[in-house]
Amino acid sequence: MANILDGKRIAREIQDETQAEVESFLASTGVQPCLAAILVGEDPASEVYVRNKRRDCERVGILSQLHHLPTDASTADLADLVDRLNDSPDVHGILVQLPLPGQMDETAILDRVGPLKDVDAFHPVNVGRLSQGRSLFLPCTPHGVQQLLYRSRIPVCGQHVVIVGRSDIVGKPLAMMLMQRDSTCGPEAANATVTVCHSRSQNLQELTRQADILVAAIGRPRHITADMVRPGATVIDVGINRTEDGLCGDVDFDNVCEVASHITPVPGGVGPLTRAMLLQNTLIAARMQTAATAQRD
Ligand code: NAP
Repeated sequence: MANILDGKRIAREIQDETQAEVESFLASTGVQPCLAAILVGEDPASEVYVRNKRRDCERVGILSQLHHLPTDASTADLADLVDRLNDSPDVHGILVQLPLPGQMDETAILDRVGPLKDVDAFHPVNVGRLSQGRSLFLPCTPHGVQQLLYRSRIPVCGQHVVIVGRSDIVGKPLAMMLMQRDSTCGPEAANATVTVCHSRSQNLQELTRQADILVAAIGRPRHITADMVRPGATVIDVGINRTEDGLCGDVDFDNVCEVASHITPVPGGVGPLTRAMLLQNTLIAARMQTAATAQRD
């Protein structure tokens, strides 16, 4: 049976480190990092996500604000709010909870968040910097996956990583990060050979079976079955699917457990790491903005 990679434990470890860093940053600068979360509409899942993120902030000593707009708010209303938060010296990170209601132009809003406050790292400037290996922020879910592998002592350097899914939020940035020469955890946690698969990939099973590390970021319940996994591979399940039987990942966990050497559960795998990395990014944002202000003054 595969070893279960305990995302909750590792996320708690990162939160504790962040808490200590926030304390020493506050002691040396007098600045308390602050995350502003924007929630539009009444989506219950989004409300839970935002509540959890704010609770995490409180736990590590980061201030948080909630800005709630009605479902029928316009792109212009939201853009005005983003502009105000961009200009506010009290706010270091801006998080726009997705998805936005259908009438809103999501790309226009994400482009509006100032790159130095873009703690989700969705702004084209931050995506471009990531591709060049000189990031200000790393996107939270891919960075969480990299931290999880590193802190679980799963070798990445020189390994073949196969990622199923090419979204801008998970698949693409994760591929970019794992193929870089270096990482926040050093070169051993990067330098992978990466294959990215998607819905048009042919012979998916042939590709996934080549993986030393297989990452599923598809959004389809239990899509990765045991016959798609090479015996001994590490399997990272990014998927979060709500089904009639409750929450499940993109991996057929019970059966893949019998083939893989290591596997993440859902829930309790990648999800908590994503939240932990958001806290880290908020602290980084506060550091950058405080340093920029000091230079101006
Ligand atoms: P997404 O934007 O919908 O992308 C899904 C990707 O999977 C697409 O690239 C799609 O291919 C590919 N795909 C779909 N069906 C496929 C198939 N049959 N074979 C191969 N590839 C297929 O989703 P996402 O935002 O990346 O999210 C993926 C999952 O991760 C979701 O369950 C989401 O809830 C979860 N998630 C979890 C976290 C976390 O913190 N744990 C964070 C973000 C997302 P095409 O590009 O060809 O359409």
